[in-house]
Formats: sequence, structure tokens, C-alpha cells
Amino acid sequence: MNTFFPFVKEMRTLYNEGLSVETIAGKQTIYIITNTLTMDLQAQACVFNMMQHNGLCACIFCEETGVVVKSGKGHTRSFPYREIKPKARTSESIDASVEQAVQQKKPVCGFHGRYILKHLPWNEFHVNCTIDYMHGFLLGFLKRMMTLWIDGSSFEQPYFIGHKLKEIDKTLKNIKTPYIIHRTPRKIQNNLNHWKASEFRSFLLYYGIPCVEGILPNSYLEHFACLVEATFLLLQEKITAKDLNRCKKLLDVFYKCMAPLYGEETCGLNVHNLSHIVECVENWGPLWAYSCFSFDSCNGEISKAIHGKGNVSGEVYWAVHSEKILENEIKSLPHGKAKVLLKEIMSSRNTPNNENLEVGEQCYVMKPLVKMNIIPPSLAKEISIHLKIEEDKLQRIDIFKAVKIQRNRFVFYSKQCGRVKQNNSYTVLLQQPINRCDIVQVEYFIHISSPRTTIGVCSGFQRVHSLVKGRAPHIQVLELKSQEEDNFMLVPVSLFEEHIVYMEASGRKIIARFPNFIERD
Ligand SMILES: [Zn+2]
Repeated sequence: MNTFFPFVKEMRTLYNEGLSVETIAGKQTIYIITNTLTMDLQAQACVFNMMQHNGLCACIFCEETGVVVKSGKGHTRSFPYREIKPKARTSESIDASVEQAVQQKKPVCGFHGRYILKHLPWNEFHVNCTIDYMHGFLLGFLKRMMTLWIDGSSFEQPYFIGHKLKEIDKTLKNIKTPYIIHRTPRKIQNNLNHWKASEFRSFLLYYGIPCVEGILPNSYLEHFACLVEATFLLLQEKITAKDLNRCKKLLDVFYKCMAPLYGEETCGLNVHNLSHIVECVENWGPLWAYSCFSFDSCNGEISKAIHGKGNVSGEVYWAVHSEKILENEIKSLPHGKAKVLLKEIMSSRNTPNNENLEVGEQCYVMKPLVKMNIIPPSLAKEISIHLKIEEDKLQRIDIFKAVKIQRNRFVFYSKQCGRVKQNNSYTVLLQQPINRCDIVQVEYFIHISSPRTTIGVCSGFQRVHSLVKGRAPHIQVLELKSQEEDNFMLVPVSLFEEHIVYMEASGRKIIARFPNFIERD
């Protein structure tokens, strides 16, 4: 949105000078950018010629006026929870307010005057405008809430947990995430202001509840869990009507309890927007579909291209241009190591090389494969049962050990893979339970070419209950079912479903599921 700002200011100037705006508004690019409008609150006020987020009637979805309340040594505008919802804005009510504002030359119902987007082919901006959970949730009230938890100024409050920060940081530092989460958890102490939005997202969805459970008072934990569960549901790949109903209830409770628990001054416009977010998801789909995350990562790519202070636009242009030329040149290279290496550099990702893959049972097994000359007797028995052959015939079959496989859109690692020191990409959710275990940790893989079989040698876990009773069922406590060397489970990899986050806190084993695998850090 930053790049859009000067343009909006320019449009405002044109309005003041009475020039025709339709020629500018007719530009195709604006239409594409703004088909669904996602931006932070400051930009929103500017684009729609409205009051700032702390002003009277600043909500673009309804006519909530807000109230001025005390905040520290000054005052702020709060948008309190109301049993009877404020009147929703309509195209007609917006037009009337705008026209009155122009005539009276003062703000009316939140509007300073006309706004240029009115002239675009669609004009129901209160419908097209979406809520960005990156700015609103993560960098908005979640960051504020966490700051309140640990800030010295709130040491007399029941929610103050600053004195337990070391304990929380210890849990955080011990969490090893799957490779899908690029940023490993950082300490909160002295770091919170430097946390990226993606770190707040991971904290909210996965680590938050395990870290503060048993530390934050119960009423505060349950309140926080409402937000965790609702965010998870709204970020899923598929959201059902039942999920939306549940979200409505959870967010209603969260908003209602915000002022009694944390004070009226914490109910800013971001918190108020929670009362509109379910409708936004009903209209436009899951939160990830229009969040600012993807735009922010593009900004990151662009800023990487800038090395000096002069001719910045030229540098960006040449960086993009040369990347495109390189992409085309690589296509025309003969197959070989140079081509693979260049492709890897360009994609900045470790894409597995097809030459290093062996076709397994409903998966690719990644080389090297090491022949197992000695098989522990208990394992041999299990394998013979699995393959439905007699144990003494097993010696005639070549059995290989592998450390990682590729299946569907994931690479599943095992504990014996040398690369797993930093990550835990070996904890897997199964499609269906085996011996009542549907979570496994893979020790290594066994691959047999004929009959083609690929099996994970795993420790099995059983999900017992969710960590917070009745809330956030995607975070659950585990119980270990099999772990000894001679008690591993054999699991066909065709049952491997997806990666999950595995954590240990207060001596308990905990897992958290991902809401989707589309968003990346
Ligand atoms: Zn509203």
C-alpha cells in the first residue's frame, strides 16, 4: 500500500482543484489492484477520504461512533462491544454522508468528502474492502496484548506474566518447527518489537497456548484461545458454514471480554473489525487469500534489488529484467548439473532433483539408499508380517534404508537424517490411526523394490485431549504409545498425511496442526 500512497495524495489534490478524476480512475491497474481492497487502517482512511482509525465513525462497515476513554496520561477512542449492533453502512447512506460532508465542509459520519474510488466500475467499497489480518490481528491487537502481558507498567494487573518470561522463552527456544515454518521461534524478551508478522502468526496459531498455559490466568487463557481457534478456522483451505458460525461465537466472546479483561482503551478499531470479519470471509474467502503477506514479501524481493541511493527505479528494473533473461537462458541449457544448480539458485529453494529419486510406494524415496545387511529380529518379524511372507524368506529380499521421502507436496524427513538438527520435519499426522496412533515420529524409512513397498519405522503417539478444554482443538496433548527400539511401529507411507508442529512444554508433548499449506513465511 505504501507505493499507492503518493498516488492517493495526488488524487486528493486533483479533487480540491476540481479536475476530472474519471480519467485517472479509469486506469485498468487501479481496478485490478482494488478489486478487493486490502490495506492497513491508515491507508484505508486516506483512500476513502475518511477519519483516521481513532476518529469519530472511523469504521467503514458500520456507523459505530466510538467513545473517548482515558488511556495512560491521555485519551483515546475506543469502540466498545454492543449487544445491539450499530447500523451497517449501505451505498446510499455513504453517498448521503459524502454529499453532506461536501456541502457542510466538515466531516459527516466519518467522511471528509468524495473519494476517487467511487468512480470505479464497482462502487460498493464497504463490501469490496477486506480486513487484513496481518496488520489487524498480528501486528495490531495481538502485539498489543502480548506487550501488555509482559510490560513492566502492567505489573499490578492480573494478566501480567513478565516475571515468567524466562520460562516462556525457554519453551519457545526448545521448539523445533517443520521446514515449512522458515523462521525458528525467537525469544520474546528484548525481541518482541523486532518480531516479524509471520512470527506473530506462528505464535498465535501454534506456540502461544502451549507457552502461556499454566502461566496466564485461566480467564485470560480462555479469552486468548477464542482468538487462536477463530483465526485457525478462518485460515483453513476450506471453511464450512459450521466453522463460520463457530467463529462468530468465538469472536463475539473475544470482543465482549476485551474491555472487562484488558481495559476499554484496548478496544481499538482493529478489535472492532472482528465483528465484521466473518462477513468478510463469507464474501471473499479465507483470510490468507487477500492478506498483505504476499505483498510484503514482494516488497522484500524488490528491496533486495536496491544497492545504492541513486537511480533506485533503474536498479529495480534491471534486477527484474536480468532475472527474466536468466530464466530463459537456463531453459535452453543442456540437461546436467549446471542446469540443476542454476535452477536451484533461481528458485532459492531446495527442490529435489529427479535424478536423486527412486519411485516408492505412492511416494518418491530420496537417495542415498543404504542396503540393510542386518535387520533387528523384532523388525524382521514386523516386516515379514507387513509383506505377508515368511521370516526366513526375508533374507532373499534387498531391503534398503532411506532418510527422507517426497510425497504429495511434502518432504518427510526422519530422525536419522543429518539435516534435522534445527527442524522437526519428522513428526507426521496419519490419514487414519494405526493401533490407535495417528501421530508418528519417523526414525527412518525402509524401501523394498520388489514387491514395491515403502514403510516408515516410527514411534507412535495418541492424541488425548485439546490443551485448553473446549477451545482450539487443533492444539492437542499427546501420549506416547511405542518408543523402545524393538517396539517401533511400521507405517506404510501411503498413510502419511501432513506435517504438524511438535512442542514440549511443562513436561507434556503437544502438537498443533496447520490451518493451510498455501501461506508461506
Ligand atoms: Zn463497524
